Amino acid sequence: MASPPKDLHFVLFPLMTQGHMIPMFDIARLLAERGPTVTIITTPVNANRFKPVITRAIQEKLKIQVLELELALSEVGLPQGCENFDLIPSAELFPKLFTAAIMLAEPAENMFRGLTPAPSCIISDNLLAWTSDIAQKFNIPRFIFHGPGCFTLLCLHIAIYTNVLDDIAVSDSEYFVLPGLSDRVELTKEQACSWGGKTLKEAADFVEYVRKAEQDANGIVVNSFHELEPKYVEELAKTKDKKVWCIGPVSLCNKSFQDIAERGSKSAIDEQDCLKWLDSKEPESIMFVCLGSLARVCTEQNIDLALGLESSNKSFLWCIRHPTEELEKWFLEEGYEERVKDRGLIIRGWAPQVLVLSHQAVGGFVTHCGWNSTLEAVSTGVPMVTWPQFSDQFINERFIVDVLKVGVKIGMEAPIVVGEQDKFGVVVKKEDVKRSVEDVMDNGEEGEARRKRCRELAELAERAMEDGGSSCLSMTSMIQDIIELCS
Ligand code: UDP
Repeated sequence: MASPPKDLHFVLFPLMTQGHMIPMFDIARLLAERGPTVTIITTPVNANRFKPVITRAIQEKLKIQVLELELALSEVGLPQGCENFDLIPSAELFPKLFTAAIMLAEPAENMFRGLTPAPSCIISDNLLAWTSDIAQKFNIPRFIFHGPGCFTLLCLHIAIYTNVLDDIAVSDSEYFVLPGLSDRVELTKEQACSWGGKTLKEAADFVEYVRKAEQDANGIVVNSFHELEPKYVEELAKTKDKKVWCIGPVSLCNKSFQDIAERGSKSAIDEQDCLKWLDSKEPESIMFVCLGSLARVCTEQNIDLALGLESSNKSFLWCIRHPTEELEKWFLEEGYEERVKDRGLIIRGWAPQVLVLSHQAVGGFVTHCGWNSTLEAVSTGVPMVTWPQFSDQFINERFIVDVLKVGVKIGMEAPIVVGEQDKFGVVVKKEDVKRSVEDVMDNGEEGEARRKRCRELAELAERAMEDGGSSCLSMTSMIQDIIELCS
């Protein structure tokens, strides 16, 4: 392909949640590496988290900038600074942040007008549906970015936008086979349709608003790669009647130590100390435990997790995003950290996840099955213990366990509601933790076969992102398509 025209300018609108912002910033980098100007429009708190990444990209002479818009938080009843879903402790308040985001439409349009070179294309999070009006007003193409991969997007399409579930006579917690897929996928209705607390039926107006904006989009950008889910890439494009561009795993665009270590936020552990600890362990001997940016785990559940990890007799690196005072008290009274000090390390806060997963000492990953975490494990060849919490995570679990066959279920059956985790109590018992951790770390035939599949997928992922690889070519033809649409 000829190099893109110098004045090509992409404007990116990420949703204010780590699982969408982190890949969008990677996409910004991938686009800017091809020469175009890239502007990311977000809010001050979110911009600040990515400042080091952007500063380094600018030092590398990439034409990237981040512009800030203020959310009307007090108008919607959220406290100052509450600009990311991971800062909101309860799902009940999530709609307020969506409302504040919708109110960005006008200031975003005004900002858009002043941009130079004039924007050529929008890449917007699917859930920021109002960007569709901006694209129409400025008569430029708009591509949408969804968080999940093609398999999950297809399952969600079937579950949300068709009526097939209405005809399946099972209760919300009974398993049924999702129709319309080439693999046999069993889900419950609550797993398929619970979105961080509200069921999608309750949010019908918002769902319709987003669906309409999706229909208007010129294409769909997916953080996945063709070899991972070839059938589902095709099927999704057919179902949505749109071009689908798989340009990932985008996390692999980070090459420098700092870029790998500092994704999304400053790590709560010194990265070098973390590396030293990992270096001191045998290859594939450590279980990494991290349940993403949004999930909240109650004290009792964390205690069972602690005891399960301990009784598995495996080494572990456990990231606890929001340790409660009671949990800290329990750790102290039990002398837990002293008891496991030779083989267990706890990170309180943000973990350098990709750095950890990339380390040869890591042999397994207890994950909540967020799509980014899933793909990061796939890209680094690490088998998973699957512990979904809510939203698309149960569907991702089916992909990991039933389609890719690179994970073992911990045994989570029903979605948790953020903010109500105390009501749910212990849903995964210490015996479940022990069994699944031992299964994934097992050196027997099944464990070896799983590890082999993981290694093969990691190689395919790496190749997809290299020059001439499927994702690299997909990015080239996406840019070409945009140039044609612009002219
Ligand atoms: N992440 C991280 N450190 C943490 C928690 C999360 O680096 O302590 C990153 C992780 O690598 C992934 C993203 O945050 O890129 C989380 O996205 P995912 O889709 O897995 O889950 P979500 O947070 O949206 O539930």
